[in-house]
Amino acid sequence: MPLPPSLWAATAAPAPDTPAMEGDQRADVAVVGGGFTGLSTALHLAQGGVDVAVLEAAEPGWGASGRNGGQVIPGLKEDPREIISRFGQKDGEAMVRASGAAADLVFGLIEKHGIECDAMQNGWIQAAHTQGMLGDLRKRHQDWAQRGANVAWLEPDELTQRMGDGRYKGGWIDKRGGGVQPLGYARGLARAAQDAGARVHGSTPVQSLNRTGDGWRLETANGSLTADKVILATNGYTDALWPKLERTVVPVFSVQVATAPLGENIRGKILGGGEVLSDTHRVLWYFRQDGHGRLLMGGGGSAYEDGAVKVYDSLRQRIHSLLPEAGDIEFEYAWNGKVAITPDHYPHLHELAPGLWAGLGFNGRGVAMATMMGKILADRALGAADPDFDFPNMTPRPLPLHFMRGVAVTATRAYYRFRDALDG
Ligand SMILES: Cc1cc2nc3c(=O)[nH]c(=O)nc-3n(C[C@H](O)[C@H](O)[C@H](O)COP(=O)(O)OP(=O)(O)OC[C@H]3O[C@@H](n4cnc5c(N)ncnc54)[C@H](O)[C@@H]3O)c2cc1C
Repeated sequence: MPLPPSLWAATAAPAPDTPAMEGDQRADVAVVGGGFTGLSTALHLAQGGVDVAVLEAAEPGWGASGRNGGQVIPGLKEDPREIISRFGQKDGEAMVRASGAAADLVFGLIEKHGIECDAMQNGWIQAAHTQGMLGDLRKRHQDWAQRGANVAWLEPDELTQRMGDGRYKGGWIDKRGGGVQPLGYARGLARAAQDAGARVHGSTPVQSLNRTGDGWRLETANGSLTADKVILATNGYTDALWPKLERTVVPVFSVQVATAPLGENIRGKILGGGEVLSDTHRVLWYFRQDGHGRLLMGGGGSAYEDGAVKVYDSLRQRIHSLLPEAGDIEFEYAWNGKVAITPDHYPHLHELAPGLWAGLGFNGRGVAMATMMGKILADRALGAADPDFDFPNMTPRPLPLHFMRGVAVTATRAYYRFRDALDG
């Protein structure tokens, strides 16, 4: 499966060599899926001296990891207080610490392994598109500030300065966040994992997974891998490998468009400081510049790929509305990929059977969190949970009426767009 065309595919540093697996092999740990989750798991395991093999159907970063907006966002969708009240003091605190540290983990790995991916840790801004949203953002900002996170409140005029546009009513900046070239980051993780001793195989879809007397056996077209432990890291591309796992998430096609490099006079006006931004629309607007002055816009997708393609034009319109002074804007790329949505909007960590774990459901926010999940899954396989950064095991709950997900996603999106339109 070739990498689909995108800005990232056109501009990433070259991929490492990841030959298909041949013959019957053994490893301590098998990882299925070569995105941020699987590659971070493999890197952390290999650094711990574990013999680990990644089996990826296409190539490292082929899934959402090589196609996203590259916004590195710490935290989860709910605020620290809400997380603790939902999961309790011990688990909640560990989740808050893990998610809060996730962006630093990404930038730390990039620095440590010299990963070429235009990394900029210049902050993630969350901006309120209505007065009514300001209260929620203030609460979120205060919650993280009280925990000593590097965050600041942004008054409307400060946002106008950073945005070149007065549309937002206020917001906050989380200075732990930033941006990366995501395919370059995924390829760099794969290379770092290999350097640490992991085997990374591309073009190796796993066709079946079964427990045998000798361990877990993963069958592929050209051989098999037997391993003591297995990590499933397939997120929005989860298939029927493990019964009902694919029904615990709703796959949604998410969308990105990118302009040609903007003229120097315009570049400085809109997030010229290298910040990345998401706003509070129900069908989120999120945008940033890449390392070469292109403006990228992402937004709500669809349950179907042909529906996602129809969203491209509305994202281009958003860019026109942000940069009216730019006149005709040249657009270079538009692409999509699948994210996994969970009903509670939390990533899920499952122990599916003894020695078999899955980490998935990043709800369109996995650049930082999937990297952290990889570290947590590696700790699980090592049998040594880190009390500081952890996630509780959650019971897999297959969604009733999962076959109706297309209708549900389409109806929800239509309703959200309607509510956004009412906001003006
Ligand atoms: C358009 C778009 C924009 C996004 N923007 C952002 C953003 O700006 N910030 C952010 O934080 N998040 C963003 N996300 C979400 C983020 O990209 C994902 O949460 C994250 O990449 C998930 O990583 P992963 O490793 O779990 O899954 P993936 O990267 O999707 O990897 C799963 C891999 O599993 C492989 N696989 C599946 N089944 C098998 C099998 N049977 N055998 C072998 N291999 C298999 C697939 O080939 C795939 O490569 C965006 C996503 C998309 C699509």
